[in-house]
Amino acid sequence: MIIVSACLVGINCRYDGSNTINDEIIKKVKAEGFIPVCPEQLGGLPTPRPAASIQNGTGEEVVAGKVKVVDVNEKDLTKEFLKGAREALKIARLAGAKKAILKENSPSCGVKFTNSSFKKINGPGVFTSMLRIEGIKTFSEYNF
Ligand code: SF4
Repeated sequence: MIIVSACLVGINCRYDGSNTINDEIIKKVKAEGFIPVCPEQLGGLPTPRPAASIQNGTGEEVVAGKVKVVDVNEKDLTKEFLKGAREALKIARLAGAKKAILKENSPSCGVKFTNSSFKKINGPGVFTSMLRIEGIKTFSEYNF
């Protein structure tokens, strides 16, 4: 069973109400069985929603309680991001998932790159960091 960022399989859950459907990923995950999750929606955030970014850091630092997640209006969304990542992690545990294919550059789902202070930086998002702590292998949408 594979956990996949919901926007990658065509769910309109991105901050602007769009998706980033990827037919190759759909083919791959359909063959192995999959569960789409959107940690930001699971954290109670609406769609569409203001764009958000980690404040000068990576998802690992958010999970460690060192930095915050804020939206473009500087509203603190750290609690919602952490809650959503925990809920999505619960789903991964229940499903016995051993791997996840995730959307790059996202403050939640980024694998190699995340979004810090509204710029692309090296490092994982909040959800990806929690999956790694759990021992679930995380793959980028570009390398799965
Ligand atoms: Fe949701 Fe992750 Fe896609 Fe963002 S990247 S819309 S949090 S599934």
